[in-house]
Amino acid sequence: MDVFVKGETLAGTAEEKPPIVQLEGVTKAYGSAIALSRLDLSVRAAEFFTLLGPSGSGKTTTLRLIAGFERPDTGRILLDGADVASLPPFARPVNTVFQDYALFPHLTLLENVAYGLRACKVPKADAHRRAEAALAQVRLADFGNRKPAQLSGGQRQRVALARAMVNKPRVLLLDEPLGALDLKLRHQMQLELKRLQHETGITFLYVTHDQDEALAMSDRIAVFNHGRIEQVGTAFDLYERPASPFVADFVGASNLFGAKKERLLRPEKIQLLAPEEAVPDGYEAAHGVLREATYLGAVTRYQVLLDNGESLAVMEANTLPVGERLRLAVGMKLLAAWPRAAIVNVTSDSNGGDEE
Ligand code: ADP
Ligand code: MG
Repeated sequence: MDVFVKGETLAGTAEEKPPIVQLEGVTKAYGSAIALSRLDLSVRAAEFFTLLGPSGSGKTTTLRLIAGFERPDTGRILLDGADVASLPPFARPVNTVFQDYALFPHLTLLENVAYGLRACKVPKADAHRRAEAALAQVRLADFGNRKPAQLSGGQRQRVALARAMVNKPRVLLLDEPLGALDLKLRHQMQLELKRLQHETGITFLYVTHDQDEALAMSDRIAVFNHGRIEQVGTAFDLYERPASPFVADFVGASNLFGAKKERLLRPEKIQLLAPEEAVPDGYEAAHGVLREATYLGAVTRYQVLLDNGESLAVMEANTLPVGERLRLAVGMKLLAAWPRAAIVNVTSDSNGGDEE
């Protein structure tokens, strides 16, 4: 299986091209419930772009507006630079993949994938040739004559992908497509989706509430909260330079300090030392008591109660052989130390936490 190195996608693939999807000041309310509030969004061509946020934050509404299943109350939606307000869903250069695959049970896979092309009056031989190519793309080349019931969940989702890509949309909208799969299969499909996006060059607009999935797959991520976008950035940006306490808290585990929770310290940046140990140069430190230790194999997670009453989450990689690690027992006193530079200022006027 192809595996894409993260660094390959971090830089982004299409900086210079104009945005393929643009939302400008889009508001959408359902009765008194405001689903989206003056939303601006700009997605580049050939980008793997993810909408990440908790349930009810407006991710699905955003996709439905772009697909044309809903209309915005205010604002504009542009695809490839053109306002699509007057275009019905089928006339937009987008396609949607949902969590439930909605395949026709009585049709073969080939017929399922060719169905949309046939509906558009593509001649049968041509439609079948293109459907075969799409099935090959999702690695189901030999399965064309099977029925959906003869497939696993992961295979059915790949057929749904082939069907959505067969007419070569400019943008593929994916709404939690892996939500019904178990964890191992989900990880496989994440790689598979990355490969497909890379090979086809189709812009993927991907919705998930799972931060691990978002970090693993995306060129860029927009973090949604209550119908607004809190931050747009790479996985690195969101994790290392979160623009708000919400992002810091939602993406990865974190310690947040200060009156406005404006100081962020990631658990893995903290070292636990014996109380009498010298604090290394450039480090800050605080004394406390170990309250909890949870061994998780590759890492151990600690909870430390500092003398000032604050609680500190610490994550330590179990890299040293067992005998060489500091022996930590719940109840013992210790010194928690972290590089001063690891403290990030998460208020929106922060300059990225570079200052001391
Ligand atoms: P997400 O996909 O992030 O979970 P949604 O876009 O589905 O969020 O929903 C955003 C908000 O809009 C929620 O408060 C939800 O209850 C509301 N909402 C979405 N669709 C409808 C609808 N058809 N009728 C009423 N409220 C809706
Ligand atoms: Mg949703």
